[in-house]
Amino acid sequence: MRITGLAKKMKAEGKDIVSLSAGEPDFPTPLFVSQAGIEAIDSGFTRYTANSGIAELKSAVIAKLKRDNQLDYTPDEVIVSNGGKQTLINAILALCQEGDEVIIPAPYWVSFPEMVRLAGASPVTVPTSIENGYKMTPEDLENAITDKTKLFILNSPSNPSGAVYNEQEVTALMQVLEGRGIFVISDEMYDKIVYGDVKPYSPARIEAMRDWVLVSNGVSKTYAMTGWRIGYLAGPKWIIKACDKIQSQTTSNPNSIAQKAAAAALNGDQQVVEDRRLEFEKRRDYMYKALNEIPGITASLPEGAFYIFPSVKGVLGKTFNGRYLANSSDVAEYLLLDHYVATVPGDAFGAPENLRLSYAASISELEEAVRRIRKAFE
Ligand code: PLP
Repeated sequence: MRITGLAKKMKAEGKDIVSLSAGEPDFPTPLFVSQAGIEAIDSGFTRYTANSGIAELKSAVIAKLKRDNQLDYTPDEVIVSNGGKQTLINAILALCQEGDEVIIPAPYWVSFPEMVRLAGASPVTVPTSIENGYKMTPEDLENAITDKTKLFILNSPSNPSGAVYNEQEVTALMQVLEGRGIFVISDEMYDKIVYGDVKPYSPARIEAMRDWVLVSNGVSKTYAMTGWRIGYLAGPKWIIKACDKIQSQTTSNPNSIAQKAAAAALNGDQQVVEDRRLEFEKRRDYMYKALNEIPGITASLPEGAFYIFPSVKGVLGKTFNGRYLANSSDVAEYLLLDHYVATVPGDAFGAPENLRLSYAASISELEEAVRRIRKAFE
């Protein structure tokens, strides 16, 4: 947010900034989705709804989880909230309190540790390596567990690394947790944005863990609906009920109009999702190749989401244009101030030697960004 703010300010001052810092698709919300929102307004669907979401949207969510993730849920096992963020904070507040530990593989999405702290619990971040494709191993997980461990947060496909855990990897992690009284939040926000023959696998598919796993997802990224604020959580009835209580005392129902639009998105023709996925894949291929050709930069191939998370270790400890680059924040600042490319430093994600570049931008913008980054490190 700080880098995006600075980039916006520089843009407003007339500087020609290429911004690869955004966490949202560059595509518009599909027209048929927006039209469902307009219809909701025109028909007066503008009042309080059921706190946990309208039946029509819950049915659409249940159908999506069945169709895409092979998961079976009933309406009282689902709650709709104001974006994926609210589903996550509801679940964390419902499950965690002071004295609890929550295991989070690093690099992680920035809000996970902060949400855990907000609940009074302690985040236990566990580093992963580029050699393992930024994925946590069962040994890493085992070593992080203590008698205080309450929750494990898995985010696949991952923001920021783009790592996707396959069936075998998810199963191995869940085997570590089985029978130990540890809950799992599976943040599957990017499950429809995966590349090649990569297939995400939900830990909720593992029968022995079904009573312990909460699946969090939303329409923000899949349908370019970040501003509409609709997310959903599916899991054991008693936890969903607790989330319902928290939501009822904080925000009440998510926006009625956005719920109608989200139902239209989930129930509608999914071709638009596939077309955009293919476009993201072209950009991913370009960025992976182009960044790895720049000396000092090493990127692993993202399998999902729309971010690439290269290590910039090779340029750390060096001076460019009079700027000493001690860490990735220095690198991001140098790229923005001297070369007008906005990226996000990895320290925000628990990986101080990396940079996050979003490829939710056109190929010509990506080419220009790469040209500038190459020049920056010449
Ligand atoms: N989870 C992950 C991994 C994300 O990257 C994001 C958004 O950046 C969210 C959840 C939150 O999504 P929403 O905008 O629906 O609150």
